[in-house]
Amino acid sequence: MVSSFLLPPMHSKQSPNPFRARQERLRALMESRGVPFILVTHLPNIRYLTGFTGSAGILLVGPRAGNLWVDPRYTLQSREQAEGIEVIEEKQGILKGAAIWLKKNGVRAATFEASTLTYAQFDQIRKEAGEILHLKPAGDLIEELRIVKDRGEIEAIRRAGKVTAEVFTELLPQIRPGLVEQDLAAEIEFRMRKKGAEGAAFETIVASGPRSAYPHARPSSKALQECELVIFDLGAILSGYAADMTRTVYLGEPTRRVRSLYSAVLKSQEGAIRSVQDSTPTGEVDSAARRILAKHGLVQHFTHSTGHGVGLEIHERPRLGKGETTCLRSGSVVTVEPGVYLEGFGGIRIEDTVLVGPDGPEVLTPASKECWVIS
Ligand code: ZN
Ligand code: ZN
Repeated sequence: MVSSFLLPPMHSKQSPNPFRARQERLRALMESRGVPFILVTHLPNIRYLTGFTGSAGILLVGPRAGNLWVDPRYTLQSREQAEGIEVIEEKQGILKGAAIWLKKNGVRAATFEASTLTYAQFDQIRKEAGEILHLKPAGDLIEELRIVKDRGEIEAIRRAGKVTAEVFTELLPQIRPGLVEQDLAAEIEFRMRKKGAEGAAFETIVASGPRSAYPHARPSSKALQECELVIFDLGAILSGYAADMTRTVYLGEPTRRVRSLYSAVLKSQEGAIRSVQDSTPTGEVDSAARRILAKHGLVQHFTHSTGHGVGLEIHERPRLGKGETTCLRSGSVVTVEPGVYLEGFGGIRIEDTVLVGPDGPEVLTPASKECWVIS
């Protein structure tokens, strides 16, 4: 069948049925929070729970069963992909279909995902389902589940991390003054695809000279010059799962200032990675990174949080920021990415995707941090 060839191999190499297992974990959580039904509209959450990768769909998870409403473009695909879920083809609008189902089945209370359901959609459900239905926000139930990855997910991120690291390592000997930021970014994304990635998980950053001081610079038509810092922030996506890695290089013989800045950021990153352990509050990983930068008098130049969860989305929970109390768990995958940014001078950031493994942190983006000087 042509469609099997085109669809990502989500089901292979995983435990017997990861989707059913995830649905069961969600049901247990729903029960403990007194949530009878959840209307899932965030597509990565639908993919997480069912394997369905289409660009439109609404999933309703109830105490015993789940329904997925799709439009005719996705009927065949969803029947093939969605595990343990009844697929309902809806020609008149999937939201309407879900609302009418809730009404027909006499559902009185349901929850929704407040960050993705628009007010207009909320209003439409209320109109279609009638007064009897009480709707309230679900909270981030599914996002909470996604903090702990299962074996198949970890394997996908590991492969994405390997491709990301390989692409950078292979490109490194070719980086030299005169190359243009946009060309390098395009080359990185091309190489990711050649190595089997579905694409880049986010717009690749190549930022050189003073532009490297913008933490989220977009690649420009600027050419790299001698005696400049260059930040590369890249991540491949494989089987729907992302990796995220940053390396900073210097073109030429680094000054003492550049050496000491680089070494401070590297120490900060290594120290923070050591604290990526089961049961550690994410705020503590952030403090570890900041403490080391403070020792070097640089903490005021570290202007963003230390990291974020990575998985089906490039930025997901947990956030590794000041005062965060969410604890890391064995199976969590997060980035650790301290950086310092000096206006008019440049920036240095070093980032890895890190798994909280049973024996401690495991870096999933294994590109060297030693080869940062290009002479
Ligand atoms: Zn990044
Ligand atoms: Zn990141």
